[in-house]
Amino acid sequence: MRLTRRTFGLGAAFSLVAGKSIARMAVGSGTLTTVSDGYLVLPADFTLGALPEADRSMAREIAGITGDTVETPCNLTLYQDGERTILFDAGSGANFMPSAGTILDSLEAAGVAPEDVTDVVFTHAHPDHIWGVLDDFDEPLFSEATHHIGQDEVDYWLNPATVDEIGEARASFAVGARNRLEAISDGLNTFSDGDTVVPGVVARATYGHTPGHMAFMVSDTALIVGDAIGNGHLALQKPGWASGADQDVEAGIVTRQALLAELADTGLLMVGFHLPAGGLGRIEAAGDGYRFLEEAS
Ligand SMILES: [Zn+2]
Repeated sequence: MRLTRRTFGLGAAFSLVAGKSIARMAVGSGTLTTVSDGYLVLPADFTLGALPEADRSMAREIAGITGDTVETPCNLTLYQDGERTILFDAGSGANFMPSAGTILDSLEAAGVAPEDVTDVVFTHAHPDHIWGVLDDFDEPLFSEATHHIGQDEVDYWLNPATVDEIGEARASFAVGARNRLEAISDGLNTFSDGDTVVPGVVARATYGHTPGHMAFMVSDTALIVGDAIGNGHLALQKPGWASGADQDVEAGIVTRQALLAELADTGLLMVGFHLPAGGLGRIEAAGDGYRFLEEAS
């Protein structure tokens, strides 16, 4: 099967289901649900800008990009095991993009109030993953939750030099991340590669997209990959190609290729933050690359 934008239902079709919880299954002793935070509208160059000119028209075709922008879905993951209600990433909030920040509607559809969330676990501190952690009064939205993030990720975003070194296009990311991390610093739990973050959730260093990006294995059954596999098209069909979304492009390639090979070998369930159909599925080898098999919800 040839994989196209149409096959994966990216973009406008996805926005029709934004605001709903759309994929759910039993994992370990609990239930894993992906909950939509809407979608992003990004400059096409954000995806294509790291590629050599010669590859860009093929990349546009694979990614289904016809204009100057690309739409990408945002899937947060909710894991409920009776004792805990764990939210992986907090979404964009109200101030990043009008098309994103729908997490409260999605949680409500899943029967979860913000104060029910016991733990918020971050893959990384980009705007679409952490800006939603504060409410309209800049107080923690998930008021009863413990917040967890990788130590290397915190160190990077709290470093005062980051805003000057990250480049103009991402300077607002640095300001926003630091602001959020400072606001949730009370009781913030940090962890490193291999640590058990909360019972049943183990951190996996997957650096490259950001300097401290983490994936999470849930109950030895499902791998939450965040943005280490950053989309449902180029990241799968051309995993060795540079992604402009990765802050360290070379490390991003190494991480992506290793994860995809592992997921295809093991058949593990996975959740991709920016993958289609809620991001819940499995990876299968296909030609020189891979394809995403949606898990029926
Ligand atoms: Zn993202």
